[in-house]
Amino acid sequence: MDAAAAGTAFSSMSALSPDQIPGPRTARVRAALCGAVQGVGFRPFAYRLASELALNSWVLNSSAGLVVEVEGPEAALEQFLSRLDREKPAAAVVLTREVSWLAPAGFTRFEILASDAGAEKTAAVLPDLATCGDCLGELLDPADRRYLYPFTNCTNCGPRYTIILDIPYDRPRTTMREFQMCAACRREYADPRDRRFHAQPNACPACGPRLEATLREAAEALAAGRILALKGIGGFQLLTDARNTEAVERLRVRKHREERPFAMMMPSLAEARRYCAISDAEAAAMASAAAPIVLVRPSGAPGIAPNVAKHSPYLGVMLPYSPLHHLLMREFPHPVIATSGNLSDEPIAISNQEARTRLGAIADVFLTHDRPIARPADDSVVRISRGRESVLRRARGYAPLPVRVGRELPAVLAVGGHLKNTVAIGVGRQVIVSQHIGDLDTLEARGAFERAIDDLCRLYDFKPELIACDLHPDYASTQWARRSGLPVVAVQHHHAHVASCAAENDVSGPYLGFGWDGTGYGGDGAIWGGEVFLVDGARFERVAHLRTFRLPGGEAAIREGWRSAASLLWTLGIEMDARARRLAPLLEKGLNAPLTSSVGRLFDAASALAGVARESRFEGQAAMLLEREIGSLETGESYTLAGGDWEPLIRELVADRGPAALIAAKFHNALANWIIEEAERSAVRQVVLSGGVFQNRYLTERAATLLEARGMAVYTHQRVPTNDGGIALGQAVLAAASAS
Ligand code: ZN
Ligand code: ZN
Ligand code: FE
Repeated sequence: MDAAAAGTAFSSMSALSPDQIPGPRTARVRAALCGAVQGVGFRPFAYRLASELALNSWVLNSSAGLVVEVEGPEAALEQFLSRLDREKPAAAVVLTREVSWLAPAGFTRFEILASDAGAEKTAAVLPDLATCGDCLGELLDPADRRYLYPFTNCTNCGPRYTIILDIPYDRPRTTMREFQMCAACRREYADPRDRRFHAQPNACPACGPRLEATLREAAEALAAGRILALKGIGGFQLLTDARNTEAVERLRVRKHREERPFAMMMPSLAEARRYCAISDAEAAAMASAAAPIVLVRPSGAPGIAPNVAKHSPYLGVMLPYSPLHHLLMREFPHPVIATSGNLSDEPIAISNQEARTRLGAIADVFLTHDRPIARPADDSVVRISRGRESVLRRARGYAPLPVRVGRELPAVLAVGGHLKNTVAIGVGRQVIVSQHIGDLDTLEARGAFERAIDDLCRLYDFKPELIACDLHPDYASTQWARRSGLPVVAVQHHHAHVASCAAENDVSGPYLGFGWDGTGYGGDGAIWGGEVFLVDGARFERVAHLRTFRLPGGEAAIREGWRSAASLLWTLGIEMDARARRLAPLLEKGLNAPLTSSVGRLFDAASALAGVARESRFEGQAAMLLEREIGSLETGESYTLAGGDWEPLIRELVADRGPAALIAAKFHNALANWIIEEAERSAVRQVVLSGGVFQNRYLTERAATLLEARGMAVYTHQRVPTNDGGIALGQAVLAAASAS
């Protein structure tokens, strides 16, 4: 059976819902492995392991490494994953592992499939890998020649994507080309038995990159509450003592980042556990080779300054991932803010000169070095939800690992949306999604966007024949697409959201897709964001949406949630305060007050009416605050949002004198109940949840739990973001479908 036939088998079985499958819960898991996994007996090993555990499915070599899928009882799948790691062939080295949990496909045997078509043509560009245990040992061993050397790395760890200039990946085509290896390094590099055999960034104190200031100075600056600009792996980071409220405040003011939560780097997992409640899955994500920022619950222990993340129910925490970070944390063993080296929403600075210019007014002290960074890669953000990893910002440690999709794609380039932009290219059955680029509001960001496109095309020797973009005519990305001269397919924003989630979850057959976010161009003149689609292949039927309301002031309503509240009250003839009343003429004439069906804006309105937040200093803040308000309250109580009509909900909410926690919970529950209502109305048993609103963990988990209890299969994002960082993937698959 070849890969295409496997796809057919899947679609014929996908109508099975979990409650029709007898016995323990059956699932399918896919693990995409990179590293030395080909030609080392990995496929037969996976085959034997699957047979032993009586699991079915397949394994194949891909351009990026190896992909294995197994299907069977969930407990056996967990066992398979852990033994895959523990018992792998001696010569195999697994550098990265991305796991996706999928619906069972009904496979009846285990097979070794032929390699993906075109696999040989695509070079495998690895992401940057956190410092391995061996290198860390050498780094801290006074007898080792790399003792305290901040650029220590080996074949199993170190920078990759951020140093590669061109393919094939070889030292002269990396930013390490400026450094001549010394005799000792060259010996390691040439010795097949050495851990540094062909380690392109190999270096030592005698021949490699050097710091341009001392770690001691940097640590002293942190201790004194100053702001440090540190040249990291994928760009500059701004660091300051996370226990020092004044230092954190200074960073906020200088960076023009008023309230958005800051991420922290903790010296060790033990230290992180002092301040946060960290599950095993969260700890594993933190300690993985990708070493992302993981969103975790605060433990409530004192010590972290209150202005680090005062509006979020979560703290973003990561561990040191480069030798430089390890050494700095050794000198300053305390939690530090570690945020992107940029001004508010601009792209991260990567060159020393750029950093001096752009960060000069923010940082007190610079810790730079002379290893150039080839391209920006911010720290990635993940969270564990429903027991699974969900990537919210895909950059360092993940990019440019491919996402496998269910069918071959033409040479399509997807240019993404406007906020949290990423771009993607389709290569065979793989979609390579760029690292997070950012909001395309500034010239810097647009430059970064164009460089990311050039970069992917060059690294993968890729010539796009088709461009996919958003339907919004004014997005910078759309305009770039129109100027390209190539055929363009414009994809509706929320179609792209749900198609992205369906693609990464390998969903086939019809499904009900909920595309909920703050803003997306609807194509009918309205701003969408509370959409329910019945999807079959590339066909979208908008079966329901949130009742529309006017957004007085348009864009201004995104920051000023009270405007949305005023609009709802005005529509219902409910009394308003003086400020809100001033919007009435705008609403009556429909002037600068576009219609919207956005759930994000309904969140803003509810947050304002509940007295939680009248305004948002960053996208989604009012919703985040409302979620946080629920705390640990557990209740099934709900307002009424039947058919997506917010009238009863708003009337109930404004009359509610209950505690804010209960009001917040009843609002979230109303949204979850509307999802259930739509799903029960539909004959389809597969539900896809996508869009920025589903960054809300309470809503997502509640909706998923209720749907699953009714025997429905629920799909949420895993490997790509549920926010606009994920839409390039959806655009790519939909443009491909429309082109064929
Ligand atoms: Zn290493
Ligand atoms: Zn050397
Ligand atoms: Fe969106």
